[in-house]
Amino acid sequence: MSENAELSAEVNPCDANSAVTRGFDVARVRADFPILAQQVNGNPLVYLDNAATTQKPNAVIDAISNYYRFDNSNVHRGAHALSDRATEKFEGARDTLARFINSPRREQIIWTRGTTEAINLVAFSWGRVNLKSGDTILVSSLEHHSNIVPWQMVAAEVGAKVVPIPISTQGEIDMVALANMLDESVKIVSVGHVSNALGTVNPVADIVRLAHGVGAKVLVDGAQAIAHFEVDVQSLDCDFYVFSGHKVFGPTGIGVLWGRESLLNEMPPWQGGGEMIETVSFSGTTYNVLPYKFEAGTPDIAGAIGLAAAVDYLTGLDRVALAAHEADLLSYAYASAKNCAGLTRVGEAANIAGVFSFLLNGAHPSDVGTLLDHQGVAVRTGHHCAQPLMANLGISGTVRASFSIYNTREDVDRLFAALEKVKQFL
Ligand code: PMP
Repeated sequence: MSENAELSAEVNPCDANSAVTRGFDVARVRADFPILAQQVNGNPLVYLDNAATTQKPNAVIDAISNYYRFDNSNVHRGAHALSDRATEKFEGARDTLARFINSPRREQIIWTRGTTEAINLVAFSWGRVNLKSGDTILVSSLEHHSNIVPWQMVAAEVGAKVVPIPISTQGEIDMVALANMLDESVKIVSVGHVSNALGTVNPVADIVRLAHGVGAKVLVDGAQAIAHFEVDVQSLDCDFYVFSGHKVFGPTGIGVLWGRESLLNEMPPWQGGGEMIETVSFSGTTYNVLPYKFEAGTPDIAGAIGLAAAVDYLTGLDRVALAAHEADLLSYAYASAKNCAGLTRVGEAANIAGVFSFLLNGAHPSDVGTLLDHQGVAVRTGHHCAQPLMANLGISGTVRASFSIYNTREDVDRLFAALEKVKQFL
C-alpha cells in the first residue's frame, strides 16, 4: 500500500477497508468464523444470507463441543458433578442473556426454541386468558409469518380479530394510521423491531408509548434486531421481547422470550411436563415458579450455553464500531445499486438495518438467486415468510442480500460483479 493510500484510508471513516483505523478489524472478525473460508462453486464464498441465519464463531462451536465433550448431563437434577456443572453453565447462560438485553431479573428470561415458539407461547398462554370476542390484535403489514399466524390461530379460538397496521411505499409503519387504530378494543400490538424482508427499523419505543396509552400490551419481535444493535428491554418499555439464537451467532433450536414479570407470573403454563411443575398428583398439580413454569421438559442445554457464548463473543467486540461497519456496507451497497442498470430497490425506509432487498430487470428472484449461487454469492430469494407484505407491495418476492459483522466492501463488489453476469442470462 502506498503512503497516499494509507493516508486516504485513514481519513475516510466510511471505508470498510479502513475499519482497522476505527478500532474494528474485519479481517480478525472473519478469522473467527471458519465457515467463511471456503469455495462455493469454484469461487470464494460471499455469505449475504445473514437475515436467514448468521454464521457461528469458533467461540460458539467450541462452547457447544466442550459441553458435550466434558459436561454433558441433565440439568437441575444435582446428584453428581456433571449435572452440577451442566446446571451451572445452563443457568449462567440465563444470567448472560439477562445482562445482554438489560432484563431487571434473570427469571424473566424464558428459553424457547426460537422466535416462533416464543410468539406462540405468548399468543396461547397470554392470549387465551386475555383476549375475548370483539378484541383486536394489531400487527404491522411488515410482519414475518411467525408474528401473524399464531395471532390468527388464537384469534379464531377466542373470536378476536387480527388487523394489519398500514405501511408507506418506503416500507415504514404508518404511525398516524396506528394512532388512529388504537382504541380500547386493542389488547396487544405485536410488531417486529426490524423487518426481515426490507430491513426497516421500526420506532418500537414510540409504538409502545402509543399502545400503552390505550392499555394495550406490546410484543416486539427482535429476531432481526438482536444482532445489529444493542437492545434494552427496560428502555423500550415493551411487555414481551423475543428473538432466536441463530440470528445472533448462536445455534439453532434456542431462543428467548423476555416478558414483564407481572405478566409472566399471571400467565398460565403453555406446555405441561417435567421441570414446569412443583408437585403432581391426581387430585391436582401445582406449577413451578418463573422461569421454569414455561420450560417443560429437558431444555436445549447445549443451545443455551452456545447462545451465551455467542453473546459473550458479540459483547466482547466494539458494538459501536460494528454498527458503523454495517451501516457503511449498506450505504456502499445502496450507492452501488444506483449504478446497476435494471436494479430496483425494494424498501427505502429512512432507518434500515442489515438488509438490501431488490429486483433485477423484472427477472424472477429465484433465477437471480440461482445464478448468484453459481458464482459463490449466497442470498435469499422469495417472499421471505412475509406474503402479506409482498401482496401489499404488489410483488411476489425479492432478492435479499443481508449483511453482518464479517462482511466487507469486497463482498458488496462481488455481489454487483455477479449481478452484471446474471444480467447476461436474463
Ligand atoms: N421474525 C422475524 C422478523 C424473522 O426474521 C424470523 C426468521 N426469519 C422469525 C420471526 C422466525 O424466527 P425462527 O424461525 O428462528 O423462529
